[in-house]
Amino acid sequence: MKLDSYWLDTAPEFKDGAQGPVEGHSDVVVIGGGFTGLSAALELATRGVSVTVLEAGGIAAQASGRNGGQCNTGVAQDFASLAASVGLEQARAFYRAYESAVRTVESVVTQHKIDCDFMRCGKLKLAAKQKHFDKLARTYDVLYREVDQDIELIEPARVRSEVGSDGFYGGLLQRNGAQMHMGKFGVGLAQSAARHGARIFPNAAVTQIKRMDGGRYEITSARGVVRADNVLVATGPSRQGPLQWFQQRMAPVGSFIVVTEPLSKGQLDALFPHRRNYVTSLNIGNYFRVTPDNRLLWGGRARFAMSDPRSDAKSGQVLQANLAKYFPELGATRIDYCWGGLVDITVDRLPRAGQHDGLYYSMGYSGHGVQMSTHMGRVMADVMYGSADANPWRALPWPPVPAHAARRWMLPLVGAYYRMQDILH
Ligand SMILES: Cc1cc2nc3c(=O)[nH]c(=O)nc-3n(C[C@H](O)[C@H](O)[C@H](O)COP(=O)(O)OP(=O)(O)OC[C@H]3O[C@@H](n4cnc5c(N)ncnc54)[C@H](O)[C@@H]3O)c2cc1C
Repeated sequence: MKLDSYWLDTAPEFKDGAQGPVEGHSDVVVIGGGFTGLSAALELATRGVSVTVLEAGGIAAQASGRNGGQCNTGVAQDFASLAASVGLEQARAFYRAYESAVRTVESVVTQHKIDCDFMRCGKLKLAAKQKHFDKLARTYDVLYREVDQDIELIEPARVRSEVGSDGFYGGLLQRNGAQMHMGKFGVGLAQSAARHGARIFPNAAVTQIKRMDGGRYEITSARGVVRADNVLVATGPSRQGPLQWFQQRMAPVGSFIVVTEPLSKGQLDALFPHRRNYVTSLNIGNYFRVTPDNRLLWGGRARFAMSDPRSDAKSGQVLQANLAKYFPELGATRIDYCWGGLVDITVDRLPRAGQHDGLYYSMGYSGHGVQMSTHMGRVMADVMYGSADANPWRALPWPPVPAHAARRWMLPLVGAYYRMQDILH
């Protein structure tokens, strides 16, 4: 078993990284080479703006290359609760932003001919208990009435036609969800941006951002110093660099994934006949899908812990046991990959994007970021060059996460709380 991301292990190598030191001047410096940063760089470069991307490690090798591979429509939280807290019109606008985001991914893939197995497959949320199905049925009514007619309620009697398990009590299908190979997409984005003139520097961790006279910036990285008129901070849940203001506003939470050996077509047709994106309804639930080469990717919170190789391996064992519970036929299936990553969670699980102290930023996608990061990269290019209204998250305040400093020690307690909720409700 490799303690490595399947997406990164099976992606082509990115060969167009900038050579030599980081130096000179760019109209825009992007800090972070995940989907947010690369998508912004691509959009800026195609408009003729000079852009330099400074990435601490490898291209798209953090959350963007370590995720569950789902590119879904719909907001992260229950739509009715969201409408109750921000108002119906605003909730509709947020919901639709995710539809636009999936369309952005599709149009980037098509326009730049990125070979990444993109397909619209639909997302199926599976009820893990009868009362969860009752709640999904209520959600279906609200969504259908207020914002999305491209959905379908899968009654308990029909759920076996969707998924070959006795563990589920019906589900809610959002038909426009999509999936792709995240590693191929990340490299494709970077290559397209480089082809259009973006300078992309891997292994160039930013250590200092200095404001100069005249509103310009000087950015110091591990590979040299560059000046810029504008800076976009696209660093996800990063713990490194001069980013404390952002770090205090998100809780980095570990999420873990295992990928099986390739399964036969017969097995897959019996278990996942429509090859959708699947999530379960528990607080500490699972997300899963089939990979382009017929493996099952199975992810979840597993343990409330941070990600590192030891922690990932422990979580992998929990995930494997959990997989066997829902799909006993896969109990003896070999696990070929196991890894973890950090999710950038905000208190209300809505993204944040805008300007702080002159620096542009977009992050906090709270586990629903594949589509939104790609979309927001493009949107932030618009915002930097005059169209602030393009940013759907512009009006949201962003207070620090309470008890931020203590979060590492609180993770097991939070985990115990959610586990108890799953037993009781
Ligand atoms: C295990 C897991 C499963 C997930 N599953 C899904 C899913 O199925 N669907 C979905 O929609 N979302 C999912 N997500 C979330 C999604 O992957 C992210 O929201 C999205 O990739 C964020 O992209 P990003 O570019 O903002 O951040 P990242 O991909 O994290 O990129 C930020 C980059 O900034 C770099 N960086 C940080 N600090 C510095 C510095 N000081 N200097 C230079 N560079 C720096 C990092 O090295 C990193 O490469 C998942 C996330 C994880 C971890």
